[in-house]
Amino acid sequence: MNTITVIGSINVDTTLYVQQLVRPGETIHVNEKLIAGGGKGANQAVACVRNGAVTNFIGACGHDAEGKMMMSILEHEHIDTQAIEKTDEATGQAFISVDAQGENCIMIHAGANQHISLENVQQHKDLIANSQFLIAQLESNLSATIEAFKIAKQTTCLTVLNPAPAQQDLPEELLKLTDIIIPNETEAEILTHCHVNNHEELLHCAQVLHQKGIRCVIITLGKRGAFVSYQNTQTIIPAFKVHAIDTTAAGDTFIGALLSQLHSDLSNLKEAVIYGNCASSLAVQKLGAQPSIPFKDDVIASLTLHEN
Ligand code: ADP
Repeated sequence: MNTITVIGSINVDTTLYVQQLVRPGETIHVNEKLIAGGGKGANQAVACVRNGAVTNFIGACGHDAEGKMMMSILEHEHIDTQAIEKTDEATGQAFISVDAQGENCIMIHAGANQHISLENVQQHKDLIANSQFLIAQLESNLSATIEAFKIAKQTTCLTVLNPAPAQQDLPEELLKLTDIIIPNETEAEILTHCHVNNHEELLHCAQVLHQKGIRCVIITLGKRGAFVSYQNTQTIIPAFKVHAIDTTAAGDTFIGALLSQLHSDLSNLKEAVIYGNCASSLAVQKLGAQPSIPFKDDVIASLTLHEN
């Protein structure tokens, strides 16, 4: 069983389901409202723990009602919350609209997520040292992520960067400290300034990332699946064919599920990506972020169904 530490964001998500995404100057009717736990960091931690990994979280939230809600959600999931510090900043919040086609639009108030202290990271370096994987995204302060990745590099823990939300010109230092990178198509393009519209372009984009010192590149391709570039193998592992109703947290589910299964020597990389594809195909068939993240039993049942 893998032990995984996630450093990253904790948000309360308010999701509004609408017919069409709102345009400037327009007032529209909301069909349904859902308030649930979110934040890429918290979503990925939930995906890890629901898929069987012992999961630790390094992050920050406020002393407010949203912070209390998130602590109780993460504790209820059996995520180790000892490294979540309380700050005077408000807990992060995301305001999400989802249209009838399942496309989304997101606004985020980062709040406490931008204030993870280096002291907090250093105090919990044993959590990192005892993990197989350390996962980070870009919704919290880069200084804390870099500190955590430096600690991991002194141990056997592999570092995994999900460069989301998309950002260009990430510090070379962070990329040098990254073992595995998992962007979606937009994030890969913005990060590398390369297009990823066809296989040739995917190969080139992965090469650019390998040249920065990253061993394993996985670019998620939405309903097309995931492109994997590791050692001498570059291949697309297709997604499962399903009817998507809400793609929020598809990538977060993919990452947490994949890493919960991956061996430290990456010897089962293909099987773990298939598992991640299957888990995220279940997530896109349900509404919401954390409420849609499947448990290991559901993923295994779905994989078995597809095999037969
Ligand atoms: P993100 O949510 O970060 O934008 P993607 O859209 O690339 O990431 O989705 C991540 C993974 O979720 C994909 O690699 C795929 O396995 C799965 N997925 C996403 N959309 C669909 C879909 N419409 N049908 C089946 N699987 C999907």
